[in-house]
Amino acid sequence: MSLPEFRLLRPRTIAEAIELLAKHAPDMQVIAGGTDLIPSMRQKLFAPRYVLDIRGIHELRGIHSRPGGGAEIGALTTLTEIENSDYLRQHYPVLVEAAATVASPILRNMGTLGGNICLDTRCLWYNQSLTWRKGCGFCIKKDGNICHVAPGGDTCWAAFSGDTPPALLCLETEIEVAAPGGTRRLPLHDFYTGVGDNYRKLQKNELITRVFLPQSSAGWQGAYRKLRIRGSIDYPLAGVAVVLRRSNGHVEDARIALTAVNAAPVLVKGIREALAGRPLDEAAAEEAAEFAGRTAKPLTTSALTPEYRREMIRVFTRRALLQAFKS
Ligand SMILES: Cc1cc2nc3c(=O)[nH]c(=O)nc-3n(C[C@H](O)[C@H](O)[C@H](O)COP(=O)(O)OP(=O)(O)OC[C@H]3O[C@@H](n4cnc5c(N)ncnc54)[C@H](O)[C@@H]3O)c2cc1C
Ligand code: SF4
Repeated sequence: MSLPEFRLLRPRTIAEAIELLAKHAPDMQVIAGGTDLIPSMRQKLFAPRYVLDIRGIHELRGIHSRPGGGAEIGALTTLTEIENSDYLRQHYPVLVEAAATVASPILRNMGTLGGNICLDTRCLWYNQSLTWRKGCGFCIKKDGNICHVAPGGDTCWAAFSGDTPPALLCLETEIEVAAPGGTRRLPLHDFYTGVGDNYRKLQKNELITRVFLPQSSAGWQGAYRKLRIRGSIDYPLAGVAVVLRRSNGHVEDARIALTAVNAAPVLVKGIREALAGRPLDEAAAEEAAEFAGRTAKPLTTSALTPEYRREMIRVFTRRALLQAFKS
């Protein structure tokens, strides 16, 4: 499958990138590692006239501890750098574990944290070649007006399928967005819309520049579990991140977030209330797993059934909680 024709622009600074975005958006697409965008362009899901390659902007790279506590990660930092960071492994282990499950080593060498946060939502009826999609009469997400997953409706339910965002949600991460009018900072949980064909609150002329991990989430134990068809490379079809703080054999606080089962990565509500002050035994883990199972809303967007994916959310939540509590 060939790539559509486009003009590649390579800024060296954030200011230069924003200037180019202001000039060429909406007919421009940002590229970081390209591990998701390039296959999608080959499938003709995107055919921008301009592609903005941000890899030459060095200020977007690196993992830095902040003077007042917490950490800052540049949007261009690769998943391999995150996986290999001793600092992150010590202070934010759930992020390292989640990053290490993305795709395969070669894709993690190219793939970036910013690209993982901005990852397009996925669906069996959408991530296909042009010929395949044409044969099915297209769908709401691109070029059509029906949804094969929920026929009769006018909503796209494609699933958000990035591995690091649930870990980042558990860590109460904030992101920085650069735009022609200046920069803004927002909690990651405000970034996603929950709508499959318009899944993120990012204008075409905006760029994610940095990710902030707060000091208050440092040192929490964590675990990440994902379901995928090919263990060595695939996107998650269900994923669970958990973090918790332990004190005197009891849970002091805990958070759980899910991916690949809704149109956005989501935090499970009520976990702190359910677990705080209790030892984390099988019964407590099972109770939290029920909350997670009820939060997951998988549909027929993937090759595995919604029932199986929801059940695996429960199984993974229980296992991840028990592992995190013991670690
Ligand atoms: C075979 C295969 C398996 C994969 N498996 C997984 C998996 O298991 N888990 C997983 O999470 N992902 C998986 N991926 C997808 C991808 O490798 C990762 O999500 C990666 O982190 C994407 O980062 P990137 O830098 O390559 O993004 P790109 O492909 O460059 O960009 C992805 C999207 O993000 C936007 N973008 C990138 N950076 C920015 C920024 N700084 N500001 C604004 N927009 C930005 C782009 O415009 C594009 O829309 C897989 C991909 C392939 C091909
Ligand atoms: S959920 Fe429906 S509209 Fe969205 S990509 Fe899948 S088939 Fe298309």
